[in-house]
This record gives sequence, structure tokens and C-alpha cells, in this order.
Amino acid sequence: MLIAGNWKMNTDLTGARQLAASVVSAVGTPGAGVDVAVCPPYVSLDAVFTVLHGSAVRLGAQDLHEADSGAFTGAVSAAMLRSVGCHYVIVGHSERRQYFGETDASVGAKVLQARRNRLVPIVCVGETLEERDAGREREVVERQTVAALRDVRLESAADLVIAYEPVWAIGTGRTATPEQAGAMHAFVRTLLRDRFGPESAPGIRILYGGSMKAENAAELLAQPDVDGGLIGGAALKADSFAAIVRAAEAANR
Ligand code: PEP
Repeated sequence: MLIAGNWKMNTDLTGARQLAASVVSAVGTPGAGVDVAVCPPYVSLDAVFTVLHGSAVRLGAQDLHEADSGAFTGAVSAAMLRSVGCHYVIVGHSERRQYFGETDASVGAKVLQARRNRLVPIVCVGETLEERDAGREREVVERQTVAALRDVRLESAADLVIAYEPVWAIGTGRTATPEQAGAMHAFVRTLLRDRFGPESAPGIRILYGGSMKAENAAELLAQPDVDGGLIGGAALKADSFAAIVRAAEAANR
């Protein structure tokens, strides 16, 4: 299980330090097999790393650029993220696809760049409401997953995380039912099996994201192919976030 908090464009430096400290104390030492991460805004990564030092909570970033370095004003490279202590990086979040023009091709390039720099990408896939209503959710998720992983060579299943995030459930308070999430996660698992083979595929974590909170985490995490959560809103309150970590511990027993 992996419970990762995506803080998005929230918290200034002071707020990020405070939230990180609260998360560390609320989460404590997670049970065996449960990993925890927070993904603050770029400007707070360094400071949050200092707060997390010595705790069980790992650091992640919300995006990266696909190039090593150069004239890309405003962008942040994988090496920069490594240098401030990142272990994970979110790639292809639906908000990046929707508001920043990310394409399947750019997501694929970023996944490779993360891997080259020993960052674990949390690769986001998921359909819009329109696509689900048209019965195209599997087609969309397959297209996004295949494109994102096309050139990936995996040494270990721990080197890759997928997050299934139905766009209609992100920040809306509307959650996929456990059955909807379970069915899509099982489908993503078959895609991973096709791509990486029966040895690696079972160990790759597939997170659910989309209005997961303390109240609904247990039933979502109980689904066989749901290996954790990518948490937006509920990650901004340490107690709510820690309650989801507790649910992951219970589901993992
Ligand atoms: C997200 O942004 O990845 C997310 C799942 O957000 P929320 O939990 O707020 O729906």
C-alpha cells in the first residue's frame, strides 16, 4: 500500500512546514507494507524534506520537465527533484493534462526521465465524465497507460506506481464506487501484465485517486487491486490524511 498526498497549489512555505510536521506526528510509524508520501509545491520541497528527515514519510513532487536542463523557463528537472530529496514524482495528473496541455507523448517522456533519474513516477490515468458516459473509460485508460509506459524498462515493481483517477471524481466530492474502482484497477492490472509480464505486474502499485477520504477509504482500499490512494483535498489536513493511512494498514492485514 502507498498513501500519497498531493498538496497541489496549496500552502506557502510556513504552511507547508507546519502541515509536514503535523503529518509526521499524526502518521507515526505506519504498519508493515504501508508507505506514505507527501507532494508539496516545488518551492517547499527542500524545507519539507528537512521536516520529514528521520520519519517514515517520503517526499514527492507534483511534476517534472522531460529535459535534463536548459532554456525551459519556469520548469524543474528530475535532477533538481533528486537534489532536494524527492523519491516520487506525480506524472500526467489530469490537471496537468487539462490546464497545461500535457499529452500522452509528454507524459511518456516524463515517465522515462523520472526513471532515468531514479525517481519513482506516480503515473496518473483516468477518464472524464463525458468519456465514462460514452462507455469509453477502458479505451481511454488503456490508451493513456500504454502511451505512458511504452518505453519503460522495469528492474523492480517498486520502481513504478500507477494512479487511476477518474477525472469526474477529483475534487468533486463524488467518489467512484468500490465496484467501479475495483473493476478499473483489475483492468489496469491486465494492461500491466501485458506490458511487464506476470512476474512484475502483481507488485506494481495501482492507487485510486478521486475524493478519497477517511470516510470512504476502507471500502476502496478493500478492493483486491487497489494498492493505496493518491489524496488531494484530504491530504491538507493531517488528521484526515493519517486516518486514510490507518485504513490502509487495516486493509493490508
Ligand atoms: C488528486 O488531485 O489527485 C485528487 C485525488 O484530489 P481529491 O482527493 O481532492 O479528489
